[in-house]
Amino acid sequence: MLLGMIYTVSACQTQQDNEQQMAVKSVEERQPTLHCTPETEAPFSGEYWDSHENGNYTCSNCNHILFTSSAKFDSGTGWPSFDEPAVQNGIEERLDTTMSMIRTEVICANCKSHLGHLFADGLTNTGLRYCVNSYALEFEAENTDKAK
Ligand SMILES: [Zn+2]
Repeated sequence: MLLGMIYTVSACQTQQDNEQQMAVKSVEERQPTLHCTPETEAPFSGEYWDSHENGNYTCSNCNHILFTSSAKFDSGTGWPSFDEPAVQNGIEERLDTTMSMIRTEVICANCKSHLGHLFADGLTNTGLRYCVNSYALEFEAENTDKAK
């Protein structure tokens, strides 16, 4: 399946340029914004928000493992949501004060790509919700041996 359209808000521009940069771009046009204000895809638009397959979610930029499907849960937000990282130190957190909010941004510990945000309103045991953009993820399905 092809990814849906995502909203790409280019935050590398100056304030004056923002108007013309609020354009909707296709996934193919998307460039990693490693040092810019993170972009957030529209809810219910990404490839993985409603995915329930078993496997691993890796960084779409560097293939670093980020989450396993066992940590994924339905948050109702329209974004893929996980309650814990796949490996310790696999994800870095940093303060994000953009959009007039104080949030915890989560980035790939390996390549520093923006993944999404971390919230403390998770519905599962950990109480955490890693709200991640589908475009930041690559899914590797588990090799399920269904032979019977
Ligand atoms: Zn990465």
